[in-house]
Parts: sequence; C-alpha cells; structure tokens
Amino acid sequence: MSAATTTNLAQVVEDAAAHLYVWALKDIPQDLRDALAAARGRETSRTGIRVLETIHRNVEIADEQRNLVCQDTGIAVYYCRVGEGFPLHPARIYAALRAGTERATIEHPLRSNTVHTLTRENTGANVGYRVPIVHWEFVPDWDGLDVKCVPKGSGSENMTFLKMLVPADGVKGIKRFVLDSIVGAGGKPCPPGIVGVGIGGSADYAMHLAKDAISRPVGTRNSDPLVAELEADLYELLNETGIGPMGLGGDVTVLAVHVEHADTHMTLNPVAVNYQCWAARRASAHIAGDGTFDYVRDS
Ligand code: SF4
Repeated sequence: MSAATTTNLAQVVEDAAAHLYVWALKDIPQDLRDALAAARGRETSRTGIRVLETIHRNVEIADEQRNLVCQDTGIAVYYCRVGEGFPLHPARIYAALRAGTERATIEHPLRSNTVHTLTRENTGANVGYRVPIVHWEFVPDWDGLDVKCVPKGSGSENMTFLKMLVPADGVKGIKRFVLDSIVGAGGKPCPPGIVGVGIGGSADYAMHLAKDAISRPVGTRNSDPLVAELEADLYELLNETGIGPMGLGGDVTVLAVHVEHADTHMTLNPVAVNYQCWAARRASAHIAGDGTFDYVRDS
C-alpha cells in the first residue's frame, strides 16, 4: 500500500462523511416517505391528519429548496462496516469521518450542537471529544468499507430508556416496558417515529442494539420469526395508545417497531428502547479498496 493510496482513501472517506451528513439531513429515504404517506392514509383524527400533512409539506419544502428537513442537525453518528482488506486503518477512517463532519458543518453551514458535557461550552463544528460517534463492525474476506450516517436529533434521543428486567418477566415484561416507555415519552420525541428495541446481551449492548435497530429501512422485519412476531405485536400495541402524531391524539403513534437481539446470561433480561423521530435521516456510502465509491440513500 503506497502513501498516496492511503491519503487518497482518507480523502474519499472524508468527502463521503461531508456528503452523507448534509444529504441525510436534507433528503429522507423513500421507505420513510412511503411510511409517512401510509400513516396519512390510515390516520382518522383531524388533528393527526393535519400534523401528518404538515410533515408532508415540510418534506416537500425541504426538497424544493434543497434545505434541511429539521433544524436539529443532531449528533453525527456513523455505522462502519470495515472489510479486513480495506487499506485504511480504522484510526484513519475515524479521523476522516471527523474531518468530513467538521467540513460539512462549516461549509453548509449547519448548526453546531456539540458541547462539553459538564461546561456545556460548544466544542466546534459538530465535533468534540469522542464525537462524532462511530460504531464498528469488521467483515472478513472483503476489502470494502460501508459508511452509514444516521444524524440523531436530541428530542428523540432524550426519549431513551433501559431496564434490567428479570428473566421471570419474560416477553410480557418486555412489552410492558416498551409500552410504558412510549406512553411516558408522549409527544416529546416528535412522533410518529420508529421505536428501536434492543433485547439481550448486556446493559450496554442492549442499548447499542436498540440504536442499531432504528437505522434499518423503515418497517423491515427481523429475520428471526420470534423476534419479528414481537415487532408486529409491539407495533399493534403502541398504535393503540392514542398518542398520535406529535402527541396530539390519533391512530398513528409509531411508523414501525424494529427489534434487534443478542443471546444473554441466564439471569439477565435487559431491554433498551431508543426512539427515532419521524425525521429518520440516514444515508450511506460504499467505498471499495481501490477508492471507487457510490452513495446510497435507502440502504
Ligand atoms: S426530535 Fe427529530 S423532528 Fe423533533 S426536533 Fe429533533 S430532529 Fe427534529
């Protein structure tokens, strides 16, 4: 691997981050547009319909004016799948993602949200200590890199919940905790959105899984039939709460429920809930080891 190749790849990753962050904020995926249109079709409350029509108009204006769908540019979160043969070390990938995030924020410009968690002083152009947040997965026998940018607004991120249930609570306990969490959240996370649920693993891993769940295309089902059944049951249950669009009452409280799971200790039953508001923004890049790339909004 030559120094020039490394430098060019770092630039490709930086450019990808700069492009994906802004693109995700402006142009929501087709599956989300379809889910919002379907929600409008099944909502019966007049207020709920008005809210969903306002969201639709909001998205239309963002498209027409090539502007952001929401003023909250979120915290920049990236999911990276790194092939074992990708010729750029993850430390360099992280540096490039950070540089791209910073560049996009300055060049657009975007609102800078990142602050020191104690002093609350702004730490720069949507970067700071351990920000952006990057999740890693390493893939054998492959030389590519997939980067997915999922900017996360604070209104929905604040509606995040974790409970260490006991095994005896079973599936019923999981459903009750998810229901209690969403009822407690009410209109705060800008519903209707996607409820990400992580079950199993450990406390931290359950939360990671809940976060992972919200980055899937809207309405996709878990490949495990038991988990998919839980997703369907929770979807029905949460839409019976009457919370409705923006918490103002109605039939559509959530667009989808996505559950991710991991096996766990025999005495553990962790459940995490991470809410994703209606502005479920995401955009991806696939980068090959030779530096060729393409951008994909809907994966
Ligand atoms: S929760 Fe979502 S829709 Fe609401 S203000 Fe934040 S980013 Fe925007």
